[in-house]
Order: sequence, then C-alpha cells, then structure tokens
Amino acid sequence: MAVTTVEEPKEAPEVFEPPPKVVTTPCDPWPRPYILDEGLRRVAPYHFTYNTYCKQRWRGREILEIFKDEFRDRPVEYYKDAIENGAIHVNGKPVESTASTVKNGDVISHTLHRHEPPVTAQPIGIVHEDDGLIIINKPAGVPVHPAGRYNYNSVIEIMRAERGHQWNPLPCNRLDRLTSGVMFIAKHKKAAEAVTEQLMGRTIRKEYVARVKGEFPEGEVICEQPILQISPKLGLNRVRANGKEARTVFKRLAYYPPGKGNNLGYSIVRCRPLTGRTHQLRVHLQYLGHPISNDPIYSNQRVFGQDLGKDSSTGDDDEDIISRLSRMGKDEVAEAVAYHDEMVDEYNRKKAEKMTGELCDVCQTPLYSDPGPHELGIYLHARKYECAEGKWSYETSLPEWALPPTGYEGPKEATSETDPLAVDVEKLTLNDPTTNGEETTAASAT
Ligand SMILES: [Zn+2]
Repeated sequence: MAVTTVEEPKEAPEVFEPPPKVVTTPCDPWPRPYILDEGLRRVAPYHFTYNTYCKQRWRGREILEIFKDEFRDRPVEYYKDAIENGAIHVNGKPVESTASTVKNGDVISHTLHRHEPPVTAQPIGIVHEDDGLIIINKPAGVPVHPAGRYNYNSVIEIMRAERGHQWNPLPCNRLDRLTSGVMFIAKHKKAAEAVTEQLMGRTIRKEYVARVKGEFPEGEVICEQPILQISPKLGLNRVRANGKEARTVFKRLAYYPPGKGNNLGYSIVRCRPLTGRTHQLRVHLQYLGHPISNDPIYSNQRVFGQDLGKDSSTGDDDEDIISRLSRMGKDEVAEAVAYHDEMVDEYNRKKAEKMTGELCDVCQTPLYSDPGPHELGIYLHARKYECAEGKWSYETSLPEWALPPTGYEGPKEATSETDPLAVDVEKLTLNDPTTNGEETTAASAT
C-alpha cells in the first residue's frame, strides 16, 4: 500500500500581502480638471496618494528625516504636521511618531493635496496623423510623461483628455520638457515598434533651431567636441576630452544686432545633431561661446562665470561649478537667467504681481507663483525630422522667438535650402557607423 506523505503547508511569503486599502485615494477625475487662463494651463489641486516602497538608503531611518531629505517640495514643518495628522502611513497604518523608523518591504503612503505647476496653454500641434501615428509639435515647458510635480500637465495626459479616457498615446522619441518641437506619438504598440526602429537607424536627419547669444559665425560650423556627464544628479554635461564622441553641424540663419528692443544681439542658428548625447546642442553652443540665450544652466553667469564656459574643456573648475549649481534653488537659477535675458523686466513685473504669499485653503501650502516666461521653455526647437532616403519629412514652422524682431528683416520661414549636408557628411567622414549605437538615436540631443 502506497504511503502518502503530506507536506506541511508552506508559509505564504510576506511580499504577496495585498497592499492595505487605506493607502489609495481614488484619483481619476474625468474630464481632467484643467483651467485655461492667462495663457496658462492650470490644474485644479486634487487629493492624491503617493505610494513608495522603502528604498535601501531609507532602512532604519526616522520617517521625518526621510521626508525632509528626499522630498524637498515642501518644508519640514509640513511633513511634521502631515505625520501628526495621519496623512503619512506605513503599510496602511498611520505613522505613530515623527521618529518611527522604516524597514525593508515597507510601503510608505503620503496623501496630499497635489498642486501641479501650470504649463503653457498653447495646444499640442498636430503636424500629421494617420492610422498608426501622430506627429505632434510639442509646446515648450510641457513634460512628455507624468513626472515629479507634473501629472495631468503632461503631453500624455493632455492628449488623453482630448481623445478619450481609454486612449493610450505611446511617445517614440525623447524631447526635454523645456524644448519644443516634433515628436512621434504612436497610437498602438505595433506602430510604436515600427517608428522606434526607424528612429534608431541613422537614416534620420534631425534639425533644430536655437536662439543664441551674440553674433554666431557665418557659414557651416562643425563642433566635434566629446561630451561627458559631470554631474548626473544635476544633469550637468560638459565638453571633455574623455567624454563621448559628439558631433553637430551648425548654420546661422540670421543675426539680429543690438538695437531697439534687442539690447544684447542674438543669432538664430540651425543645428543638425549627428550624434545624440544628452544636452548635446546646449553644451556645444556653450562651448562655441554662443549659449542658448535663456538656458537656465548653460547660459548662467552665476554658475559658469562671465565667459560662460567658452572653450572650456579642462575640468579645472568642475567642482566649483557643481557646488554653485547645487546651492542654487530652482528660483534662483531662473532669476539668474532673467538677469541677462531681455525678458527681465516683464518677468520681474509678473513676479511682483504673483508673489502674494497666499496659502491654499485646503492644505495651507504656500501657493506657487506663476512661472516666468523662461521657465516655460528655452529657445530650442526640434523643427524637422526627415528620412534621409526621402520617404517622409515632418516639419513645423519657426517658433515665434526665431522670427525677426520688430524693425528687423530676417527669415520667417526656415530655409528650404535643406543643406548640402548629406554630401558634406560623406566628405567630412562624419557619417561614421560607430556612432550608430543606442545612445546616438532618437531626439535626445537636446
Ligand atoms: Zn492645497
């Protein structure tokens, strides 16, 4: 007779415990709570719960300390009150005291009244649309994906709000929040795969337009300085001999000398990135001595000194620059930019109006002032994407900041003299297959 052995039932592993129900706040308002007002797209504040697994560096630390160090959006007093009022939970139970510690596997929930920063009310432009794909013209200042303080104020959510709750846009190229221009949005997975594959290939030509300080030299200017990320935390990149290979071809489209309503003199420059390093165009323009006029990092004298990092590639001053940049709050950086930006007057006037010191009725948080024009974007626009074999080409018109100022003559359309670059690339042996790696793809060259 066979003997049946019965094994002791194994204990269910702890990680499969369902998350406690108290940590979720239903949050899916439809229609989305947008308010279009004074040229801005605002989001009415709403309650929201952030759930985060305990990170390794948080283990054994006091809860208030963690919030103070890791979530700098709000002051430490706010978090102290939030803990005392039961707005912060661990594993579904209110935290007992500000000195409670967390351990591996804990889920920390923070329910708050979420205030999103406003973005421009300018609509997302449609350049082309077919069954699988939408080519959009992304307005400057709007992030593509929900991230940080931005949620409904993102390309994904704005498009969803326009097309339906179940609609799921799939972005296929990258574009920094501050940058405007051409983006590929797939309507379904199959289209996304096809587009991504194409964008990864080197048969794509990209063209950006930038507005830069001073008189950019005439003719084609090629910058082949390698770029190194010197502070990932601050997103700071610089020209360094030991950096990654990077190449851009620049051409001046117009120069507007100092004069009435244009105190500093600036140039409109076409940029063709042949590689796709992070901040490639911003860093190369800075190196050439013509940073993007309103670039909060690379055009900041308080960070880079008076010459703004022109021709600098030695790294002698990296430590200083990193420490100056990290000491500056977001507002300070913005202010420093405004200092030598022709928008300084308007910005200060607006700021004086908006800094009211009001508190939110619901959560008592100081209300953010509206963003100044420079926080809504920089003068860098992805104007055109083109298949080198001529199968397709998508382009936008020139952004307003690239048009000739009042009293000046200049190009209003981008030159259709779509450059002899294809030839030049061969001639200059820039068309190097080794640059066809993962990092040289998509529109990350901003
Ligand atoms: Zn509030």
